[in-house]
Amino acid sequence: MTSTIKTALAGRMEEVENRIAAACARSGRKREEVNIIAVTKYVSLETAEAAHQLGLQHLGENRWQDAKEKWEAISGSESSENGGQAVWHFIGSLQTNKVKDVIGKFTYIHSIDRLSLAQAIDKRASQLGLTVPCFVQVNVSGEQSKHGLELEQLPALLTELKELSSLRIIGLMTMAPYETEAEETRPVFRALRELRDEMNERAILPESMTELSMGMSGDFEVAIEEGATWIRLGTILIGKEG
Ligand SMILES: *Cc1c(COP(=O)(O)O)cnc(C)c1O
Repeated sequence: MTSTIKTALAGRMEEVENRIAAACARSGRKREEVNIIAVTKYVSLETAEAAHQLGLQHLGENRWQDAKEKWEAISGSESSENGGQAVWHFIGSLQTNKVKDVIGKFTYIHSIDRLSLAQAIDKRASQLGLTVPCFVQVNVSGEQSKHGLELEQLPALLTELKELSSLRIIGLMTMAPYETEAEETRPVFRALRELRDEMNERAILPESMTELSMGMSGDFEVAIEEGATWIRLGTILIGKEG
């Protein structure tokens, strides 16, 4: 069973890798600038373990309840492919009362969208003696259904986040609306990059934001062309079961 899973996964990894390389080549970017987060939320523990063993080091989940079993099984183990320990990314919207479960287990938080959440993370992180690298999630498309902060609210939030010493804001994150043509997501990704550059120019934070978390199964190539440094891939890379 596991070997069948691994064969299928390895095939998808190779195909995705080729597409990433091509998108980097088209946009004059280096392959090392783009990191893959393997999103395991649609698959079993067995498949998630196989992905980690095959060398996918960065794993993403969007709900602690669903991630718990995988986190407990995988976090202590080493990848047979590259010997690396898993690094966990929390990519879903985070309730303040779940912060205590997540901080200390997930290294990166991609979904800062309000001050109260950031304060709760900061408090927990400082209790644990950690500094948490975070992304602020922005609702660039303005779609009602999308999580994230309104664009106009970003400067004010960043100004407040500056005071939280256990948070390090490393970049911005967004989800593009679902489009049948990936090309239609380009303005959203471009806007996120421009927003990041503008915030850096205004030097609202003491350190420039270097990262952009954007691009999923349907639109990762466009996101790479627009400057993504972290792409979050579920279906196309890890698959979707059940
Ligand atoms: C589920 C999820 C993904 C991965 O989605 P796919 O389209 O399956 O690649 C990426 N980002 C976030 C925030 C998600 O919730």
